Amino acid sequence: MFLLVACIDPTSARHARPGLDSDDLVDTAFDSGRSGDTADSGNAGDTASTSAGPCYLGPARDHSMCLDVVPYDAAWGSDYAYPAPYGGSEQYSVPARFIDITAYSAELEIAPNFVLGEYLYDWKGQHGVMQTHVVDFMQQVRDAVGGSVTVNSGYRNPSYNASVGGAEYSRHMYGDACDIDVSDMSADALAEICDGLGADYVATYDTGHTHCDWRDHPLDPAFYDVDPAGPPAPLAPRPAHTARLSSAGEAFTAPATGFDEGEPARRWTAYDAEGAVLAVGEGVVFVPPAGATRLRVVVGRQVVVEAAL
Ligand SMILES: [Zn+2]
Repeated sequence: MFLLVACIDPTSARHARPGLDSDDLVDTAFDSGRSGDTADSGNAGDTASTSAGPCYLGPARDHSMCLDVVPYDAAWGSDYAYPAPYGGSEQYSVPARFIDITAYSAELEIAPNFVLGEYLYDWKGQHGVMQTHVVDFMQQVRDAVGGSVTVNSGYRNPSYNASVGGAEYSRHMYGDACDIDVSDMSADALAEICDGLGADYVATYDTGHTHCDWRDHPLDPAFYDVDPAGPPAPLAPRPAHTARLSSAGEAFTAPATGFDEGEPARRWTAYDAEGAVLAVGEGVVFVPPAGATRLRVVVGRQVVVEAAL
């Protein structure tokens, strides 16, 4: 069997732990488009421990929804034990400041069609990070979709991320990743929208969700000790994605490594000797039809494997 493996993304070594973010599969009940109570919710209080934080897009798209942040506190313990920056990359810096989620209503309108509780959940960490530009991009995604976008997962603190099998360096811990789905749109179509709006990394998963992150955009100084006027940070290292074809009898699978959260989506295409498409399929297992001479599988939109049968 001849194999051709093409990685769509540049890669570098990385440790990833596969697993399913089961909590992310639960609809959080927040639906973009709702109106929330924003009264007295714009300020967490003027205490010595808080400082001015991000100014989100807000309902009027004027970045006037400003929240306070608190400095990282070692007393938060293992829940916030960030790993050393991956590959020494500044893009994997430990956040210096966090939003105290308990200081705000989950209904706070941080964008025309999103509320705070869609991105930051107290059971994923009382203190959280969601970079300002990511909410801007997510509103653009929502505008492009033209309907509700469900955010299944925004920020995860390190212990929560580990508990759900998230990758050691999941961007969800850095506040620039979202797992999303749209009820009447395929994960691939949603991925195309993220790509078109400048997402730096997009992957699709077997659960039907699309992961979009903006890991190469400059870190938000509201949360990170970075110099906005300084030179741009080099691109963040990529996870090493691998996939291969494996057959048992007539059935093929495509075991994969390096994906952030659970099993990546697999799109199969079987071709005949003339190159015509005989069959397409989705899922973990695929059985090519009789007459197929070549098989192609795209894994999580990140790796393409082709084989002559
Ligand atoms: Zn994700």
